[in-house]
Amino acid sequence: MNISITVTIFLKYLCFLFMPVIFITCSLSEYNLHNNAPTDPAIQEYFDRFETEASFFGLEFDVAGKNIYGIISDLDSNRIGNCSFSKNHPRRITIDREYWDGANDMEREYVIFHELGHCYLERIHDNSKSGSGMCRSIMQSGESDCYLIYNDKTRDYYLKELFNRL
Ligand SMILES: [Zn+2]
Repeated sequence: MNISITVTIFLKYLCFLFMPVIFITCSLSEYNLHNNAPTDPAIQEYFDRFETEASFFGLEFDVAGKNIYGIISDLDSNRIGNCSFSKNHPRRITIDREYWDGANDMEREYVIFHELGHCYLERIHDNSKSGSGMCRSIMQSGESDCYLIYNDKTRDYYLKELFNRL
């Protein structure tokens, strides 16, 4: 029996909200289909950036070394990103094609770094919030009522939090 976990990001209304979807399956067929699939070059750019940003904190990350690959594909309505992982199989990040095509650089970075938070760092969702209601973590799930704005002003904070360097 193999246990796999899928974590999904949904986009709702005008801000990011996240909901986790966890599937437990005894089937390996999905992983076999995608085994050794190459990472989309457009996503690879952000995998490289993830490693570079981590290096600024003295962390040596190797996304490919963890057998993680990323693809752009069609996800269900409102789903923008997804991380599927299990212990002994490739970890797959899927970004919704429609979202990707309409996203700017910061929005693309946000969803990929969030998914790498799951797939690479093995983090779970964190819905804690500040007194003003701001999400304390880039790993927020959307199941709380915190708000998250990811831009030039907040990016440093959220990267420190992502890499556990606050
Ligand atoms: Zn998530």
